[in-house]
Amino acid sequence: MKNTTLNDVTSCLSDYDPDALPVRHAQRIINDFITPVSAIEKVALRSALDRVLAADIISPISVPAHDNSAMDGYALRGADLSESSATTLKAIATVYAGRPSGIVPQPGECVRIMTGGVMPEGCDSVIPQEHVGSIGETTITITPGTIRTGDNRRFAGEDLLAGSAAIAKGKIIRPADLGLIASLGIAEIPVMRRLRVAFFSTGDELRSIGEPLEAGCVYDSNRYTLFGMLTRLGCDIVDMGIVRDDPAALEQALRTACENVDAVITSGGVSVGAADYTKQIMAELGDVTFWKIGMRPGRPLAFGRINSNGKSAFLFGLPGNPVAVMVSFYFFARAALLRMMGAEAPQLLVKVKSAGALRKKPGRTEYQRGILSTNEHGEQQVRITGSQGSGILRSMSEANCMVVLHDEQGNVAAGHMVDVILFEGLA
Ligand code: AMP
Ligand code: MG
Repeated sequence: MKNTTLNDVTSCLSDYDPDALPVRHAQRIINDFITPVSAIEKVALRSALDRVLAADIISPISVPAHDNSAMDGYALRGADLSESSATTLKAIATVYAGRPSGIVPQPGECVRIMTGGVMPEGCDSVIPQEHVGSIGETTITITPGTIRTGDNRRFAGEDLLAGSAAIAKGKIIRPADLGLIASLGIAEIPVMRRLRVAFFSTGDELRSIGEPLEAGCVYDSNRYTLFGMLTRLGCDIVDMGIVRDDPAALEQALRTACENVDAVITSGGVSVGAADYTKQIMAELGDVTFWKIGMRPGRPLAFGRINSNGKSAFLFGLPGNPVAVMVSFYFFARAALLRMMGAEAPQLLVKVKSAGALRKKPGRTEYQRGILSTNEHGEQQVRITGSQGSGILRSMSEANCMVVLHDEQGNVAAGHMVDVILFEGLA
């Protein structure tokens, strides 16, 4: 059985301090408390793109099914090749891909073969057409040393053997996986059901697009970044709009969300401001803890599970500042949501040279907005985008990666290596 209360989880950490929690502790507590959803659905192969595979894919066939040629050329018996003088072979037939010939060349004979053509029995090597010394009417001549036995022959089962696991459960299906599964002739696969995630913004100062911006107000941007990040993760989303800093409205919104989704994400109201009723209501609705995390941007974070009318949902109360929302989402909520989806998707840090010197206080994790580029010497380097204030979305928009400066790190000198995580990959 899983840990049932947050207290069970946090008591495993000897030096647990909610008011000075290292990033890695918060990540671990969240990971240990989260439980994956269990429902599975079968979908047509194309619909599985970006979904989480719910069971291992076992290959029903070997791929390729037959030994075949990797080149357009001539299939031959390696034993016929002379090491000291030219070898002349009689070309007795032509084999096309998809049309097995049944031909069995005898010693001294060869077969013209196309890429993917099934290797005739007895042949073990293919000389590419362009490497043949001379091609006559019915013979070819091969110069010594142009080919070794076994060259350009693809073996049956070289990609996959029948009965072996082609893809492990938990993998997020990418284009290559679609192709691999198609190569096995499988039309439908089991995937985890989509996660349902509700989110809303809190704050009396927030206005939605289309509303006039009164003095002292700001447009709500968090619901848009959250929309983007959750959609990219493949969640079914419920945008609950803006909720006023009002206890009854907050309670109603949290209850409605809780009764309808797997996870609820809020932004704002989790620090110590006077109008921040959010924490109080969250605490009343379930098992929720409030952290001050050793990080920048970010710091306040609410996490736990709330209950309403017999239903429960995991809760992430993110800070209000627009960049803090994104960083808290990327480094806490994202991994938790992936875990809820049953996905195996580690975050990959890569080391890159820092173009400039970076100021960094030891004792907290800093996530700086970076631009990874190639300098005039052709080397990869990262530089920090403009102002790193936690409300400055523009520098987040300009960035293509986050520079992760770990707890123990201090100032970084120009030219030293730092960890970065890219916003975009290939797939
Ligand atoms: P809070 O955590 O509620 O104290 O909010 C911190 C800062 O973030 C304040 O300046 C808020 O105005 C701003 N903020 C909170 N929520 C949003 C939002 N949804 N969109 C843009 N700014 C926000
Ligand atoms: Mg607020």
